[in-house]
This record gives sequence, structure tokens and C-alpha cells, in this order.
Amino acid sequence: MAERTIAAISTPQGEGAIGVIRISGEDAVSVADRVFSAVSGKPLSSLSGYKAAYGTIHDGENLLDNAVALVYRAPKSYTGEDVVEISVHGGALMLKSVLRLILQNGAYPADRGEFTKRAFLNGKLDLTEAESIMGLISAQNESSLKMSRAALSGRVSKKVAEIEADLISAAAAIAAYSDYPDEDIEGLNEESFQKMLKNAADELKAMLTSYDAGKVLREGITTVIVGKPNVGKSTLMNLLSGEERSIVTEVAGTTRDIVEEMVALGDITLRLADTAGIHETDDTVESIGVNLAEKRIDTAQLVLAVFDGTKPLDNNDKRILQSVKGKNVIVIINKTDLESKIKASDFIGFKTVEISAKLGNGYPELCSAVAEISGTAHLDPDSAVLLSERQRLCAYKAYEGVTEALSALQSGCTMDAVGVCVDDALAALLELTGKRVTNEVSDEIFRKFCVGK
Ligand code: GDP
Repeated sequence: MAERTIAAISTPQGEGAIGVIRISGEDAVSVADRVFSAVSGKPLSSLSGYKAAYGTIHDGENLLDNAVALVYRAPKSYTGEDVVEISVHGGALMLKSVLRLILQNGAYPADRGEFTKRAFLNGKLDLTEAESIMGLISAQNESSLKMSRAALSGRVSKKVAEIEADLISAAAAIAAYSDYPDEDIEGLNEESFQKMLKNAADELKAMLTSYDAGKVLREGITTVIVGKPNVGKSTLMNLLSGEERSIVTEVAGTTRDIVEEMVALGDITLRLADTAGIHETDDTVESIGVNLAEKRIDTAQLVLAVFDGTKPLDNNDKRILQSVKGKNVIVIINKTDLESKIKASDFIGFKTVEISAKLGNGYPELCSAVAEISGTAHLDPDSAVLLSERQRLCAYKAYEGVTEALSALQSGCTMDAVGVCVDDALAALLELTGKRVTNEVSDEIFRKFCVGK
């Protein structure tokens, strides 16, 4: 059944030099011809793909705007269908009135993500590539942009396809063995079979690890700065903020407002929650400060625990150190521009960085320590990085299937049992790229897109 022709505004709502309305479907060109007249007098239906015409948008006699109409012919368009993109002046009211006219002339309003969904259904991109488009649009930093670009260029799909190909030959060999158990089946040498499964498990494991690091690069990491009064937390905060202070977001909490400040530290965005906790006054009773710190530590993905290097550790410092044990923590020994009274042996087992928050010394070392502890230090954003929780879950299911197949093989289970696990892994990979996916899953993915995408 032919899909109905859809239309939507594809540029942001607001004031801009131009705004674009996209029409896609079998009747895209004829719908556009009903509302657009080219100055050349030629209808859009006479144009081949990738040709543009300048003219006017009109509702009967009534002129709405000057416009450029760009024609794409199926399958060489974003959606794989005939597409017309009409550029008019970019006011919200203007765009709405032109869209209304297009809808009155035979197009239907597009659902969220419907253009990209059609591109997926028409084989123009797979699900990892479709999801990368969402990443490209929402990227807040250079690394996110790179990861999304890599995925859009097919890095993730290619990596998954390689693992998939190995598992398909494994499944085929197992099936052949089940049919002819007494014959030597090529490719079913146990050693090479194990090696292949092990290799697939390693590749999947690496992808899962890169997801976690990629997520930190994309979304930032919730961080708290803790330490007794006067150790230099505010000074550190100022050093981190520097010129880079970007956004202060106020998120309405259920019981009170939490203020989150975002600061860039190298490639990583630190989401400093509850910075109010940093700014105790000199007369804050130390133990109250420590109690506060303990509460905040539990809620963060990263703790920066600051100590004053000019004073030996006292009991409150030790309490703080005790409460950050086992957390993702960097111990910061501050005030290294003055004489040190702290011993390295005070911090055995902790990742430690020495800085002078006042002078900025040790800042690069702090950046490296944060990258190291967040797992981003060794992540190449141009590589195949999984971009969504859905992708991670599929990769994880595949990893589980492969490792179960390996242990079934090693513990002497039947080849049928090994085959079931390999099939599970394969199904998960096919779902990851969308080669085999239910409508519910793909609907769910495209619902997260905006209208017009
Ligand atoms: P907080 O109470 O932990 O937020 O500490 P502050 O940031 O307010 O710093 C307390 C005092 O230590 C201030 O007088 C700072 O100027 C000083 N201070 C902070 N960092 C350094 C540093 O790296 N070197 C030196 N010499 N003084 C520092």
C-alpha cells in the first residue's frame, strides 16, 4: 500500500532568515504544484530530482510568500520517496500558514520522526544511523557530534555486521552439524569455533564499555565537590568555571530546587549538582560541613574530595576520606603552592591529584584524572560507539548469548544447545540495527524524534 503524503515544518519554531517545510510521498510534487508557482512558469512536476525553482506560494489569488522549492525524486531523497522542500521566510506564523495550505491541498500532517521512519522502512538507513541523527541534532559538545557522525556514516552498523557475519556462519555450521552429525563439517573445528565466539564476545564487550564512556561524553557526569570548610572548594569551583561556565539550569525538585552548574573539564562536562553545598561560610561548624558532604556523595557519579595540603589530615578529613571509599572519587590535594604537610601515604588506594586551585597549577592533570576515572581517556569518538540505551541493551543480550554459547561449548553441552545461544545473540544483533525489529520497537524509537524530522 502506498504511504500517504505527509508534510511538516522541518526547521525550528522561531524567527529565522528561512524556514523549510518538507513534503514526502507519492503526491509530494503534485501537492506542491497546487500551492507553488515558479517564475519560469514550469510546474514542479516537469523537474527532475535535485532541481530547484524560485516562485511564490499562493492560496488561490492570495500571495503568501516568495519561495524556493527543491524537488527530490524517489529513491534519491531522505525518505526514499518523492520529496519537495519549500523554503519560505522563517517566521513561525508564516511557516504555519504555508503548512496549513499544503495540508488543505492533499498532504497529511507528519507524525514525530515520520520522515526518518520512512527512510528506515525504505532502507535508506538502519536503526543505529537513524538514532545517530537524533544525536547529531541534540549534540552539546564536539565529542557527541563526532560519535553521532561516526554512527551516521555506518561505523556501528559495520561493526555489528562483522560480528553478525561470524555468528551467521557459526549458526549455519551448527545447523549443518545437527543435520549430519557423523560428518566432518567445514568450519566446525572446535578450536576455531571457540576462537570465533571469544572474538565476538570481546568485540561486544568493547562496544558495551565504549557505550558507558560515550554516555559520559554525551551527557556529562554528575559531580560533587566535597571537603571541609576552607580547603579551597570555592576556589576550585571558580577555576573549573573560568571562561567555560556555560549553563546554569534550575531543575524543579520535588522538595526543593536543585541548582546544577555545567562546567567543561577537557572533553567532559561536569554536572555540578547542589553547588550551594560548597559555599559554607568560615563559621560553618566543620562537622556540619562533613555531614552535608556525606549526603551529597551518595548522589553523584563522581566525587572530587578536596584536602588542604598545608595542614595534616584531621579527624574530619579522615571521615570524609572514609565516606568516599569505594566511590568514583578523585582526591585533590590543594594549595600545592604552599609548603606541604600531607603525606602521600595518607591516600593509599585513591587516585590523587595535586593542584593549586588559586594559581591553576595541576589543572591538566585533573582533566586527565577525570577522563581516566570516567573511562573516556581511551575512547575514540570516531569509532563505533553505541548511542542509545536500546542499542546497549541489544548489544548486552548479544554478549550474553555469545558467552552462554561459549560456556555451553566448554562444558560439553550438545551443539543444539550451543546453537540456541548463538541464535539468541544473532536475534539481538538484528534488532540492534533494525534488520529484524517489531513495529512497536521502531514506533517507540521514532516517537522520540521531533515533528518534521
Ligand atoms: P572553601 O571553604 O572550601 O570553599 O575554601 P575557599 O575556596 O573559600 O578557600 C579558603 C581559603 O583558601 C581562601 O582564602 C583561598 O584564597 C585559599 N585558597 C584556596 N585555594 C588555594 C590555593 O591553591 N593556594 C593558596 N595559597 N590558597 C588557596
